[in-house]
Amino acid sequence: MYIAIVGSGPSGLYTAELLLKQYEDCHVHIFEELPVPFGLLRYGVAPDHLKIKSLDAYFDSILSHPNCEFIGNCSIGDDISMNQLKSHYDAVVIATGAQDSKRPAIPGSNLKGVFTASEIAAWYNGLPGATCPFDRTEYDSFLVVGCGNVSLDIIRVLGASYDQLKSVDIPSHVLDTLSNLVIKQFTVVGRRGPFQVTFTPKELRDLLESSYEFRYLDSDYVSYLSRFTLLGLTFSKRQELLAEIYNTFSNSTQRSNLKQQVNFTFFKSITQYFGESYLEGAEFQETQLKGGEDIEHIHYLDTKTSINCDACCLSIGYQPIQLAGLHYLPSGALNNANGQVLDHDNQVEDGVFVVGWSKRGAVGVIGSNRSCAKETVQSLTDYIKTRKCGTDNPLETLVNNNTVVFYNDWKELDRYEREMGVKLGKVREKLCSKKDMLNFLKKE
Ligand SMILES: Cc1cc2nc3c(=O)[nH]c(=O)nc-3n(C[C@H](O)[C@H](O)[C@H](O)COP(=O)(O)OP(=O)(O)OC[C@H]3O[C@@H](n4cnc5c(N)ncnc54)[C@H](O)[C@@H]3O)c2cc1C
Repeated sequence: MYIAIVGSGPSGLYTAELLLKQYEDCHVHIFEELPVPFGLLRYGVAPDHLKIKSLDAYFDSILSHPNCEFIGNCSIGDDISMNQLKSHYDAVVIATGAQDSKRPAIPGSNLKGVFTASEIAAWYNGLPGATCPFDRTEYDSFLVVGCGNVSLDIIRVLGASYDQLKSVDIPSHVLDTLSNLVIKQFTVVGRRGPFQVTFTPKELRDLLESSYEFRYLDSDYVSYLSRFTLLGLTFSKRQELLAEIYNTFSNSTQRSNLKQQVNFTFFKSITQYFGESYLEGAEFQETQLKGGEDIEHIHYLDTKTSINCDACCLSIGYQPIQLAGLHYLPSGALNNANGQVLDHDNQVEDGVFVVGWSKRGAVGVIGSNRSCAKETVQSLTDYIKTRKCGTDNPLETLVNNNTVVFYNDWKELDRYEREMGVKLGKVREKLCSKKDMLNFLKKE
């Protein structure tokens, strides 16, 4: 049996692992448009989250299975079509994830100083093709719109000192730029309140413990509490933890020697950026929560407010990659029932499955892709039972391009990056362009 997986991020690799464990005669071919595996584990997760980054060893062990093949630098859609995959494999699993931030049409988005989280995270992680988004070395007031863990990652990394970053998984040229970057203060802006944030209490505590003074901008904690209480809601465990952190760190005078300040302001939804060619500020519509804490309960007020800033990063989530010819839902997820892909009319797309961020929309941590993969593999198992599976290796007819990067090539590259890293006192020094990777592998 031959199964193709499109995408070598966490969800594709968990799917491969489950298939290889379940079927002795299963061959899994993982197609990846980049020359290197691991998706957002390599190019999204913050460079200083070394424990999470070290999951690459686990995922690598899946790729090294004798019945698994990595086919890197091979884009499905460009190099090989979906139809070709469908006709050569017993089943195809889409695991293309999400690489780009959501970009709502906000007037002024083209001003210099307006950034997205994906631009910044891709750059500091050394994604091939990603360039430095900053054209200044100093920003007085840096807004981060959105209250998820990615917002906190960005503040932590951009605000860190050379010493804090020198031994993490950050490319040297990025480290050089970051050590010259001065950001005087960050302001996180939330559309809902301080207890509806999606960042985890642990990430918030880690940020505030590092070197930040924490301040509410517009109103004090008691007023937030009363707004919350007015809604008649009680705190969950998570909200209690957040309250404890807000209390511990807010407006702390003992910490006034800290080098940076991070402000938090809530109940504001961004409506436009303003400035001539450079960003000078952003305008927000004020919001309230009515009848609940969810996105659906946001009530937009008539009042507007502006915040002066010279940089603003939109960090309101990622948008899954969409492959041509498949039916995606407004959430960005591929239309599916338990991982079995469905078309416009909710009819089954024969032999096509989906997993991970392509299946659920861009939500959830790495671990959540494992249970997601279980569900998809269950649907795939039910489907396979009804079929007579192929015995010819499709790679022999499909892949005849010598720029393809196989697992052994990746291991060479991986070894080289690690060796370079050791010389510099860090885990790895990434090659940051496709050209450099292919040159190193003598594939160009
Ligand atoms: C900035 C950021 C930070 C994060 N930090 C953490 C964290 O600290 N801890 C944590 O647990 N989770 C974190 N996450 C979440 C985690 O990264 C995701 O849960 C996980 O990566 C989703 O896995 P995936 O396989 O669905 O998608 P992805 O990781 O996006 O992998 C998809 C893969 O498909 C490939 N691909 C796309 N299109 C094609 C094509 N046409 N042909 C071939 N290949 C293709 C891509 O190149 C990519 O390698 C973070 C996410 C982001 C965005």
